[in-house]
Amino acid sequence: MGLTTFAVLSDGKVVESPRFLRRAERTLRKAQQTLSRKEKGSRNRAKARLRVAKAHARVADSRRNFAHQQSTAIIRDSQAVFVEDLAVSGLARTRLAKSVHDAGWSMFTRMLEEKAARYGRTFVKIDRWFPSSQTCSACRVVDGPKPLSIREWTCAACGAVPDRDLNAAKNILAAGRAERRNACGGTVSPAA
Ligand SMILES: [Zn+2]
Repeated sequence: MGLTTFAVLSDGKVVESPRFLRRAERTLRKAQQTLSRKEKGSRNRAKARLRVAKAHARVADSRRNFAHQQSTAIIRDSQAVFVEDLAVSGLARTRLAKSVHDAGWSMFTRMLEEKAARYGRTFVKIDRWFPSSQTCSACRVVDGPKPLSIREWTCAACGAVPDRDLNAAKNILAAGRAERRNACGGTVSPAA
């Protein structure tokens, strides 16, 4: 399973990043394989290249459509939206980069931000260095970073067994609320 990204809504709901690109991606991959087998300069290669371009466009379209639908629904149903600003560039050289890019996360959060402004909702982006997975959401103890492969762990301080994504969501929500209460928050920064 890839890295899950999410927006945390004011009522604590978590929206997981979708797998909406899987089918379009498979088509794209097949088209790319076909292209690589075609002889250079041939008519068939030109046709195969066109198919790759079309598949690319379909992937981009479905990504955009999904982001629009989801962001509209979220803004309609929420008074405040807190999102984690993932360090996409920092992940760029890891194998997790693909899942982050699949999610179209930055486009998605940009749409959320625009729609929040348009409809008068609170939008807070949590600093990407906020240790959302280093803090136990039950007892607030900070016990250090964990590799992304670790999906759940036992808190040494309180014995809670937080799920990585839910734990991060709860911490982001708490940080977002703190940010709203105190405009000079230290660990979080409001969206520019
Ligand atoms: Zn704990």
